Amino acid sequence: MSKPRLRLFVPDDLGPERSFILDQNQSHYLAQVMRAEMGEAVAAFNGRDGEWRCAISAMTKRAVTLDVTSQTRQQQDEPDWWLLAAPIKRDRIDLVAEKACELGASALWPVMTQHTVMSRVNTERLAAHLREAAEQCERLTVPRLFDPVPLERALRDWESERVLIYLDETGGQPLAQIVAALPPQSKLAVLVGPEGGFSEAERRWLKDLPMVRVATLGPRILRAETAAIAALAVIGSILQT
Ligand code: SAM
Repeated sequence: MSKPRLRLFVPDDLGPERSFILDQNQSHYLAQVMRAEMGEAVAAFNGRDGEWRCAISAMTKRAVTLDVTSQTRQQQDEPDWWLLAAPIKRDRIDLVAEKACELGASALWPVMTQHTVMSRVNTERLAAHLREAAEQCERLTVPRLFDPVPLERALRDWESERVLIYLDETGGQPLAQIVAALPPQSKLAVLVGPEGGFSEAERRWLKDLPMVRVATLGPRILRAETAAIAALAVIGSILQT
């Protein structure tokens, strides 16, 4: 049985004999954009029940009904890696969201730092990028998107078991060494600064925090989006989870 060309993240419970109606946006996407046909297979996942093969059993421009037929993948544990990223220009943070999803991040948290230029973050657009990336890269969950807050606020009440890998362009321990010393199922977070980097005061403050590991990605100064993507790739290649 060939893999469906259509794959959607849905809020509905998925299981044998279930049937549900897609919301207007997803119905429009299937019926109008993808020109789906009656009876066509659609892969659906909800982040809880694994992935299920469904069939289109009714279709109008505004409402498409899916009948759940068979489970194609079991839900599985996924890494718990957060990416804390200072908002950068629109197309670049969109890229970060998409690649962070592909690279296994469990959450994206826009954090305002002293040199952050972007004062507003379009969380609706970022959430859509995360969802679409998860649909396309065949993940079984969609990364959470936390509300944008100042960095200090994000790190207040920080869960002590979550290691915070602070990407410091001025130097630190090689990221690969830090990650190689972590247990595979570690809860961790990666912090990447804005185009203007971290301020000296932020650097001093971060280095004193008990959960922080100061990491370098090498001697070259990378764009924020490059650093975020490279760091998650290193983490995934070492922890293999
Ligand atoms: N303002 C800095 C400068 O011009 O030297 C550049 C900041 S860089 C564009 C944005 C962020 O990417 C940094 O704050 C850091 O988090 C990360 N980054 C860039 N290069 C890095 C490196 N070689 N090692 C670790 N982090 C790096």
